[in-house]
Amino acid sequence: MKHIRNFCIIAHIDHGKSTLADRLLDFTGSVTEREKQDQLLDSMDLERERGITIKSHAIQMEYTYEGQEYILNLIDTPGHVDFSYEVSRSIAACEGALLIVDAAQSIQAQTISNLYLALENDLEIIPVLNKVDLPSANPEEVTDDIVDLLGCDPEEVIHASGKTGFGVDNILAAVIERIPAPEGSYDEPLQALIFDSVYNPFRGVETYFRVMNGSIKKGQRIKFVATGNEYNADEVGTLKLNQVVKKEIKTGDVGYLITGIKDAREVKVGDTITDAKEPTTNAIEGFEDVKPMVFAGIYPVDTEDYEELRNSMEKLQLNDASLVFTPESSAALGFGFRCGFLGMLHMEIIQERLEREFNMTVITTVPNVSYHAYTKKNPDEIIIVNNPSDLPDPSSLDRVEEPYIKATIITKSDFVGNVMSLCIEKRGLITNQTYLTTERVELSFDMPLAEIVFDFYDRLKTVSKGYASFDYSPIGMRASKLVRVDILLNAQTVDALSALIHFDNAYTIGKKMCEKLKELIPRQQFDIPIQAAIGAKIISRETIKALRKDVTAKCYGGDISRKRKLLEKQKKGKKRMRQVGNVEIPQQAFMAVLKLN
Ligand code: GDP
Ligand code: MG
Repeated sequence: MKHIRNFCIIAHIDHGKSTLADRLLDFTGSVTEREKQDQLLDSMDLERERGITIKSHAIQMEYTYEGQEYILNLIDTPGHVDFSYEVSRSIAACEGALLIVDAAQSIQAQTISNLYLALENDLEIIPVLNKVDLPSANPEEVTDDIVDLLGCDPEEVIHASGKTGFGVDNILAAVIERIPAPEGSYDEPLQALIFDSVYNPFRGVETYFRVMNGSIKKGQRIKFVATGNEYNADEVGTLKLNQVVKKEIKTGDVGYLITGIKDAREVKVGDTITDAKEPTTNAIEGFEDVKPMVFAGIYPVDTEDYEELRNSMEKLQLNDASLVFTPESSAALGFGFRCGFLGMLHMEIIQERLEREFNMTVITTVPNVSYHAYTKKNPDEIIIVNNPSDLPDPSSLDRVEEPYIKATIITKSDFVGNVMSLCIEKRGLITNQTYLTTERVELSFDMPLAEIVFDFYDRLKTVSKGYASFDYSPIGMRASKLVRVDILLNAQTVDALSALIHFDNAYTIGKKMCEKLKELIPRQQFDIPIQAAIGAKIISRETIKALRKDVTAKCYGGDISRKRKLLEKQKKGKKRMRQVGNVEIPQQAFMAVLKLN
């Protein structure tokens, strides 16, 4: 135990965590020439393509320092705010953290939020000034920023480049010298923290854990404290690039466990593993179920594919426990699912995986947050509304609450005005403004989460010319004056297009939605009126003019044979259209409310 170091790397997205992790693996000889591949720890294809780390991963390195062999367990963490719960669990499994700061970008919103998480867990922080090879690097200034933030000495900041490998030896020395060895007692009952799990179609769910006390042995009867389930530890081992089977993983170390669990939902990140017969009395604190933040409908483009979609979603859920879904039906779209996601990125990832891994073509409806509604009749009973069309009749409503967040934005002083106007437009209330340096400002707002879902990131990027970083954390539900804006096409309500909108913005947004839909829905053989309504009251109207007859004959006449349909399904970049009544609606139209400017 004396010679184990458990550490993670935390940083704002793109500051170079994954690249630096690769260099550490190189330098310690943890990968062979043949295994070398950029960003080794990002194993999911999607992660590689998008250059982001979605799931955290752990890897064990061996390193000899001043004649002594050490075991270094590195836990890579995702940088995106959608996955911040995973960051907090990986942090809890460590004694130290490398805090990576891009030498050109300096401190950003997630640098700070991750640092706070690490400090809350009493981690030793090793500041690393990364990307010093960049011509645009500002090593002196950024070192000053880091010193200000941490209250450390400038000498403690390690200069490095994940690209060239410069400074990697100093980082390893600091990991060994500055990060304390794990504590804990081998003689106590098993207490291990689950910080991640990965689904393997052949072996079932692999659970990654850190042993705090006791040890976990092959064949041991174990219990997961939060779920109460018992299992046999069929296999345990350490995480090298490949798994290395062991008989026992002892106090302080990190490893994997295989128990034959087939469903990722049984393994909850943050749960405690203990001995079934002699359970620990101190389960690790702070276990939380991950809650979905954003909901949307997912429907098959072809109604016949409903069962296939259900199968695919079930399989996806086996390996992504944060995905939740329940069947729903929409008058417009037929049978589909209401799905809950951690955030917008998670939603995109699920949609993409459905397409790539399961070859499904789906329509996703406008995402929304989860509301609490209360009726006059039962003002104390919460009605959870995950779909705007489930909102009780306005006349029966007492009040509606929506989730609020604390948003933290770091930007340059030049853009403070722009960022403030944007946040105020998004119903934000400023709560704090701090100058980090003369040029860099941290702004805090209380804002409705729904406003972040709608087009916030892109707008923030635009108004700040890219010089703003953003992070948020939930702060609970607040009452808001929300109304449901419905959209009617051809005088029929399309339930999938309904949205809950603040009363003050409802007219403007209703109008913009009609205009946007007019742009997005292709002209057909007949005039299509588009209306926005609040209850029975029409608040806006547009008309899509009919095409001239001779043109439409060719496009829309005749039956499409089954074979051609199948062929089209295979074709990439296929058109996603959904027939609603007698109107064909393209996928973009279902998302229209997201991009109204
Ligand atoms: P992460 O999001 O923190 O994991 O960041 P990545 O490791 O994926 O790196 C983000 C981008 O920065 C990639 O394009 C890397 O090639 C680049 N990058 C990472 N480290 C360095 C570095 O030390 N120098 C330079 N010039 N580029 C780097
Ligand atoms: Mg990464």
